[in-house]
Amino acid sequence: MAGIYIHIPFCKQACHYCDFHFSTSLKYKREVLKAMHKELQLRAEELKGEIVETIYFGGGTPSLLSISEIESFLACISKNFKVSKHPEITLEANPDDLNEEKIKALSLTRVNRLSIGIQSFFEEDLKMMNRAHSAQESEKCLAIATKYFDLITIDLIYGVPGLTNERWKQNLQKAFDYKIAHISSYALTVEEKTALASFIKNKTYPSLDENLALEHFNTLVSETEKNGFEQYEISNFAKKGAYSKHNTAYWQGVAYLGVGPSAHSFIKNRRAWNIANNAKYLRALQQNTLALEIEDLSLTDRYNEYIMTGLRTVFGVSLENVKNRFGEKYFEYLQEGVAVFLREETVVVEEGILKTTQKGKFLADGIAAELFYV
Ligand code: SF4
Repeated sequence: MAGIYIHIPFCKQACHYCDFHFSTSLKYKREVLKAMHKELQLRAEELKGEIVETIYFGGGTPSLLSISEIESFLACISKNFKVSKHPEITLEANPDDLNEEKIKALSLTRVNRLSIGIQSFFEEDLKMMNRAHSAQESEKCLAIATKYFDLITIDLIYGVPGLTNERWKQNLQKAFDYKIAHISSYALTVEEKTALASFIKNKTYPSLDENLALEHFNTLVSETEKNGFEQYEISNFAKKGAYSKHNTAYWQGVAYLGVGPSAHSFIKNRRAWNIANNAKYLRALQQNTLALEIEDLSLTDRYNEYIMTGLRTVFGVSLENVKNRFGEKYFEYLQEGVAVFLREETVVVEEGILKTTQKGKFLADGIAAELFYV
């Protein structure tokens, strides 16, 4: 089993908080897409013997692709890889790219899961984030998309200065009203070299308030639970049967090939990441070479990664698995390190599985970092 991730490195405009790789110039879009096709062909060997169960168009903004560009990627994948009969195929889309004609056309392709970057249903939040869409477009596209797609996930951002808990609740309520089956929700964070970082530095934007983010997170957890969602990963909430297969496979260490500038891959304990520069990526592929760096993961790297994903997900960390996969040394190290968190009741062991408790969920990354083998 394997997944393929396609990174579309273009956006209409830069959101203030975003540090993903993208270019707002579409000048070389055609050439970059062609190079990505070539990368798929050149790297097909890496997934030899694997069945591709999930395909994910992320970015950047994949909804900037035309229907024929999406179909031609899917045809290229089918030609070069063994693809299962009914793969999960997700496409990330922004509301401003989704009119009824486009949504209908998308629903007639093999794309069967639409991931819509709503972020907020309020104009003031969208303006603060410099999103390209309006609150009205957020609602309009959802009203249409739910007619054509059964599987829709939306992204929502919390911890935005000025977003009261009451308005945050209203954001969530909108998602429930549209009967969305999956929500991914992240706190606004300040990443280096983003517009948000410089605005905060020169005081044209208020600093982020961790207590506000925590209040929103608690509201998110309780409201989604009340509305029948399961929090299967710290930031991901799904109705029954609506887990993201692609991301779940990723968290469970399944192989995936990432194609396009800045895309990451993980195959046979080896991690690779493509250069995050469209021009350099393009030049390399035009010369039939790959512009990527490779790292072989050590046993410690794999152990640390298992702890991190285990504590962030509903799957937890299996103590038996730690003993069998990593050995006695790591098992004892974990036993020792975890004692303090068991006492604080931020983690719990149930039937041999170590998990974060409700109290520990917001702290999962910090707890995992403390348990890393160094
Ligand atoms: S649309 Fe998405 S990828 Fe593009 S700048 Fe905004 S958040 Fe980043």
